[in-house]
Amino acid sequence: MLALQGDVVEHVRVLRALGAEPLAVKTREDLEGVRALIVPGGESTTVIRLLDRFGLTEPLRSRVADGMPFWGTCMGMIVAARDVAGLEQKTLGVLDVTVRRNAFGRQIASAEVPLAIPVLGTDPFPGVFIRAPWVERAGPGVEVLATLADHPVFVRQGNVMGTSFHPELTDDVRLHAYFLRMLPYGAGEASGAGDAIGPIVAAGLVSGAGMPGDIGSPDSSDSGVIPRSPGSRS
Ligand code: GLN
Repeated sequence: MLALQGDVVEHVRVLRALGAEPLAVKTREDLEGVRALIVPGGESTTVIRLLDRFGLTEPLRSRVADGMPFWGTCMGMIVAARDVAGLEQKTLGVLDVTVRRNAFGRQIASAEVPLAIPVLGTDPFPGVFIRAPWVERAGPGVEVLATLADHPVFVRQGNVMGTSFHPELTDDVRLHAYFLRMLPYGAGEASGAGDAIGPIVAAGLVSGAGMPGDIGSPDSSDSGVIPRSPGSRS
């Protein structure tokens, strides 16, 4: 979990329920210790500034280029995008899409909408949208896995996925489980990681137990906030 800002603890809850071992990533060393990264919802301009300040921008780009699974939810998808419609906003550029921030306007500024997501099965997925972006342009290598109002809201380009909505704020774990299956040692495969941990744990976000930055640490407790104040550009 990128834990610079945003709704980190909600993702942690779901990942733990699935048997993964999420770690907080705040430094380059933290980043080296994980096998996959989720960038949560929050405020994209803030996080992009913090990524630069913590020297994480280039290391992150190179990990993603090397195939590290990456998932951006809401703000995280903005951070991942190639560019942002109508704004000169810096991004990582690891997902070949143009996003539009706060795209759905007031109607679904904050709403739960059932989404058809065929890769997750036939049951609709509860899409929680909070001042969400949509995908305005998707490059040729980008699969569109769900849409709302004719705009992609779940996309995947190889090891990089982005969702406009917040699965971590629901009880539906299917999207996190889908993401964890992108890890090289997926459930059901021999991991060789020792018999004390089950296959999904072996597929978790850590390369070793007891590493610094465990998300249980108190200094991450301030990060469970999505800015919602009326004036904020969240
Ligand atoms: N509107 C926010 C942004 O542009 C994203 C909202 C969210 O992550 N819930 O950064």
